[in-house]
Amino acid sequence: MSVISNHMPTAELQALDAAHHMHPFSENHALAERGARVITRAEGVYLTDSDGNQILDGMAGLWCVNIGYGRHEMAEVAARQMKELPYYNTFFMTTHVPAIALAQEVAKLAPEGMNQIFFAGSGSEANDTNIRLVRTYWAVKGKPEKSHIISRKNAYHGSSVGSGSLGGMAYMHAQGGMPIPGIHHINQPDWWTEGGDMTREEFGLSRAKELEEKILELGEENVAAFIAEPVQGAGGVIVPPETYWPEIQRICDKYEILLIADEVICGFGRTGNWFGSETMGIRPHIMTIAKGLSSGYQPIGGSIVCDEVAEVIGSTEFNHGYTYSGHPVAAAVALENLRILQEENIVEHVRDVAAPALKAKLETLADHPLVGEVSIKGMMASLPLTPHKESRAKFAVDSGTIGLICRDRCFANNLVMRHVGERMIVSPPLIITEDDISTLVARARKALDETYVEVKQQGLLKAAS
Ligand SMILES: *Cc1c(COP(=O)(O)O)cnc(C)c1O
Repeated sequence: MSVISNHMPTAELQALDAAHHMHPFSENHALAERGARVITRAEGVYLTDSDGNQILDGMAGLWCVNIGYGRHEMAEVAARQMKELPYYNTFFMTTHVPAIALAQEVAKLAPEGMNQIFFAGSGSEANDTNIRLVRTYWAVKGKPEKSHIISRKNAYHGSSVGSGSLGGMAYMHAQGGMPIPGIHHINQPDWWTEGGDMTREEFGLSRAKELEEKILELGEENVAAFIAEPVQGAGGVIVPPETYWPEIQRICDKYEILLIADEVICGFGRTGNWFGSETMGIRPHIMTIAKGLSSGYQPIGGSIVCDEVAEVIGSTEFNHGYTYSGHPVAAAVALENLRILQEENIVEHVRDVAAPALKAKLETLADHPLVGEVSIKGMMASLPLTPHKESRAKFAVDSGTIGLICRDRCFANNLVMRHVGERMIVSPPLIITEDDISTLVARARKALDETYVEVKQQGLLKAAS
C-alpha cells in the first residue's frame, strides 16, 4: 500500500484527491481544476493547511467543533473504548455501557420531561428517525392518517432522502426526486430578505400564522408534526423576530401537532443555553441532536424524545434502527465531550463572555458599506451583504456572487467564514477567547474591505431593480 502523508506537496495531494475522491456539495470537475484546500492539523480555533497557513476557523468545522480542536482526552477515551469494546450493536435485546451512560447524561441535560434518546450516526439519520417516530406515534394512537409533516423553505435538516425532504432547500429538491410525499413547506421568518414594509414583529407573526393556514388547509387530523431549527443555521443564520416562536408554540398546542426542534446546530451551548429551545422559549416533543453532541470528534446523532411520545412508541415494536445506533466509541467520545463542556463551564463562557464579545465586536462591522446588519444569537451570526442598506436591496447579479468573492477574500486572510447566498456566516468554536474574537473580526473587516474594492472594480455594486 502506498503511503500518503501530510508531508507530501500540496499539488500532489490535490491531484490524488481529484483522482478518486467525490466531494459533497461540490462541482467536482471545477474543484479538481482549482485544487481542494488540504487541512493537515488543528489546535484550539486554528486550522493548519498543507502550505503551513494558520487559519482561524470561524465556522467550527461545519458548526460542530464546540470544544475546539486538539483535545487529547477525546483521543484517549476513543483509544480506551476501542481496546475494550470497539463495536457492539444495541438491537436484539443488548446494550453497552457507553450507550447507557450517554443516554443518561443527555437526558440529564435535556429540558424536563425529555428522558429518552434514540441514537443515530448523524443529524440526517436522526431526522429520518423523527419522520418514523411521529408517524408511528399517531398510528399507535389510532390516527394513521395524521402523517403529514410541515417544515419551512430554506430549512436544513440533512441530506438523506428523508431529511433532505424535510429541509426546504430548493436546489437540493431539484435532484433525486425530493421531497418525498407528505411533507409541506411554509415560508421562513427571514425579515431582512423577505420582510418588505412590515416591522419585524408584524412579519414574525405573519410568518408564524402560515403554519395555522397550512394546518387548516391540510386538515389538523392529517398533520403529525412541525419541524424547525430554533435558529436556522445553514439557511443563513436567520434569527426569527421575537413574535415568531410564541405564536408557533400556540398553534402547535392548539391543533395537537408534535413540535420537532432540530437542535443539531443550536444544541450543546451554541445559543448560550444547553439547547436553542430554551433560548427561544419553546417546548418541543422531540429534539434532533448531532454536531455539538461530540464536537465532531466522532459521528453521532440522535433524537431526544419526550416522555409522552416515548411512552406511546414503547408500547409497540419500532421497526427502525442503524448498525451504528449508540456506537460505543462515538458514545464514549460524546460523553467525554459533555464532561468537558460541563467541567469547563463552556456554556456559561458562551453566555457571559464569548457571545457578548462576539456581538459587540461584530457590530463594529455594521458601518461597513457592504454590511446590511449584524444578525446574531449566541455564537451564530450572519452579515447580509447589500449594495444599499436602507432599502435592504439585493445585488443585481445572481445571489451568492458577492458572498463567494467575500468568502475567497476571507480565506486569503486566513479566516474561514462561509457564505450562504449574500450572507456571511460566523459560528466559531464555543471556547474562543476575546482575543481570538478580535482577530476574527479584524480579518473579517479586511476581507470585507477587499471585497468592496473588487466588487466596485468589477462594476457589481448595483442594486437589483
Ligand atoms: C448539519 C445539520 C443536519 C444534518 O446533520 P448531518 O450530521 O450532516 O447529517 C441536520 N439539521 C441541522 C439543523 C443541521 O445543521
